[in-house]
Amino acid sequence: MENLELSAYLRSLVIGTETQVPITGGQFVPAINFDNAATTPPFVSVMKGITNFAPWYSSIHRGKGYKSRMTSNIYEEGRHIIGDFVKADPSKDVIIYTKNTTESINMLAYIMSEEHKGKVILSTEMEHLANDLPWRDKFLVDYVSVDEKGYLSLDDLEFKLKKYRGKVHLVAVTGASNVTGYINPYYEIAKMTHKYGAKILLDGAQLVPHVLVDMKPFASDEHIDYLVFSAHKMYAPFGVGVLVGPKETFEKTQPVYKGGGDVRLVSKDFIEWDLPPFKNEAGTPNIMGVMALIDAIKTLNRTDLNKIHEYENGLIHYAMDKLKKIPGVSLYGYSSDNQPKVALVSFTIEDIPHNMIAEILSRHSGIAIRDGLFCAHTYVQRLLNLTGQELNYYRTHPDVTLPGMIRISFGLYNNYEEINRFIEVIYKIAGNKRQYVQKYKKYVID
Ligand code: PMP
Repeated sequence: MENLELSAYLRSLVIGTETQVPITGGQFVPAINFDNAATTPPFVSVMKGITNFAPWYSSIHRGKGYKSRMTSNIYEEGRHIIGDFVKADPSKDVIIYTKNTTESINMLAYIMSEEHKGKVILSTEMEHLANDLPWRDKFLVDYVSVDEKGYLSLDDLEFKLKKYRGKVHLVAVTGASNVTGYINPYYEIAKMTHKYGAKILLDGAQLVPHVLVDMKPFASDEHIDYLVFSAHKMYAPFGVGVLVGPKETFEKTQPVYKGGGDVRLVSKDFIEWDLPPFKNEAGTPNIMGVMALIDAIKTLNRTDLNKIHEYENGLIHYAMDKLKKIPGVSLYGYSSDNQPKVALVSFTIEDIPHNMIAEILSRHSGIAIRDGLFCAHTYVQRLLNLTGQELNYYRTHPDVTLPGMIRISFGLYNNYEEINRFIEVIYKIAGNKRQYVQKYKKYVID
């Protein structure tokens, strides 16, 4: 397929590409969404799937009605589809449906803390808060450092694995950063982690929507022990997340949520928990969300994620090449050494605050981007070289705008025309800062 044809085809897969939004002056323009790392619009197939399924929707597991049996089958079949998608081991892994990546990691942290309290978790300086905060109050947490380019230091990983001499239970690392887009060498990390007797959790929130992830067999030293991701970042925005991990982790431990659906038999004196994953899905689950995720995976499989990744990579390199030529722009996530990455990059423009740029892009041009610290505070602080003193200042001055960056993140439906429109506006902003700030400062509280 030619690139233009592919681009048009990919664009036809999602809903909302033609939506018009109002801008300053009252006109309407086609919305440009460069905030796909936050969440993606739904696939057409997902919406169709939900509508087609709706007449059959019913309770799962306990109902004996035809619709219940059918719904239960599809819900359970979903685990196989997801497992196949990430090459989990059907005989050893469980696929647990959660709300999102954040809930998946929190659940895992609670469950692990039951058996491994006091052990060490190695998070990293480039993690989203979802892969940092859940560990803090339950384990001794240390952070693998990143270098000045923003790359994870494998030397520091090895140093820390050695330093804690067998006490590290888990290395909790992101597959791809939501700030720079850098893809971590997760198989190398897995190898090193296993060499020191620890397990690896891969935060797939930014990876799974863009790259074919293979958890590899249990016997491989590159095996990914735990994988988490969110459906709403992969064109199925109905509130489902996934936690994949070895059955035995969940067999011996208490479930985090307790109630109906997770037990076999209960008396006033005892509780017989059901087996995982049922044990870990108390209450009526998000069935429509699961249907949406199944349809999204089928669409991604049909389309070929390798092709999608290649197309999205073309977009981000095109955008970075243009951005880096604009005076005053500093990029975070651009590298000249072919570092693998997903289609997002962050930047700042000298002398103009990030929140102001975000307001201008939205109000002047109908372009949605993300600004701030992107829930990856330590990483952004490191990339911006903020000192402890500066952080303290921001901490003790709640009225002051926090430091931050601008981030653009692409989905498979974005195209070169949209990037050109965006670059044109950034050029104008960077060249006429005073006028823009004057015009839009009323929207920015400082
Ligand atoms: N990890 C990463 C790398 C993310 O980018 C995000 C979402 N921005 C999360 C975790 C959390 O995902 P969710 O909000 O779906 O729980």
